Amino acid sequence: MKDAFPVETNNPFVAEALRARNLVFIVNPNSGTRLQAKIKDCIERYLNHRKFTYSIWYTERPGHATELAQKAVAEGYEIVVAVGGDGSINEVAAGLLHTDAVLGIVPAGSGNGLAMHLGYGRKIEEAIKKLNAAEVRKMDCGVLNGRPFVNVAGIGFDGLVSNLMKGQTKRGFIPYFVRSIKAGLQYVSKPCELQMNGETIRENCFVVTVANGPMYGYNVSIAPDARMDDGLFSVVVLKEAPRWHYFMAMPNVLSGKIFNENFVRHFTTKELVIKSEGDNYIHFDGEGSSYSGDLHFSILPKSLHVLVPREANYE
Ligand SMILES: [Mg+2]
Repeated sequence: MKDAFPVETNNPFVAEALRARNLVFIVNPNSGTRLQAKIKDCIERYLNHRKFTYSIWYTERPGHATELAQKAVAEGYEIVVAVGGDGSINEVAAGLLHTDAVLGIVPAGSGNGLAMHLGYGRKIEEAIKKLNAAEVRKMDCGVLNGRPFVNVAGIGFDGLVSNLMKGQTKRGFIPYFVRSIKAGLQYVSKPCELQMNGETIRENCFVVTVANGPMYGYNVSIAPDARMDDGLFSVVVLKEAPRWHYFMAMPNVLSGKIFNENFVRHFTTKELVIKSEGDNYIHFDGEGSSYSGDLHFSILPKSLHVLVPREANYE
């Protein structure tokens, strides 16, 4: 661990305020080319070493980031920074839920929906500088069938896109775009039953997105009104429609006006059950999976501490 600058004071309150915080970066070395070297260099250069002492830990396998985050909590680290995309953040956050440890983010994946929304931007250098002047907030997390998610989870077309991205070493906008087109042509809307707020809604659904945060990656604003601290999901249903309607809607989706589209229904709820026959493509923060059976969503209000850059648009 790197030594912080010594701070000399006799006042215990000042000493506590000036005390260097213990921080660990959890890095998925596979999430970007030459990331390992770049992250070290950027931390050395841009992290405020008066404020933070730090370690860097590397993940070795899927799910390892959750174990490392739990280890960090057990060892008394105050801040655990996920270096990666929404999938890496998901894994780290799962290890920090209901603890006092604080999640920080350095975007190094593709998409980076949550990092963008919280105001970290897309660049490693900028995000590290922003960690220096960030404040702690509490945010909600979602749970789908026992597994947590921090940003968005859902079923349908976006689940298929996430499944098509699985095992892809090449990430980035173009691979996502190509697979989104492919999935858009391939995916057939399915009858779904949505139970929430004492009501049952039946629709042929192209997508059902259960959003804690408003954006997928790449500024795709699926739930523009979603707030991460209101104890509610924003549920966005894209109903069956001619495929070209979805493509034509992209400008509205990118400018936060998706609710203007007439194939979109929108709800807010604390809990939701989705029933749909057969195997379903689902995703947790962009990590694809498939599932047959009911999908139970519930929200964990203010269950995660997160470092948010000052002046960020949190809502
Ligand atoms: Mg919310």
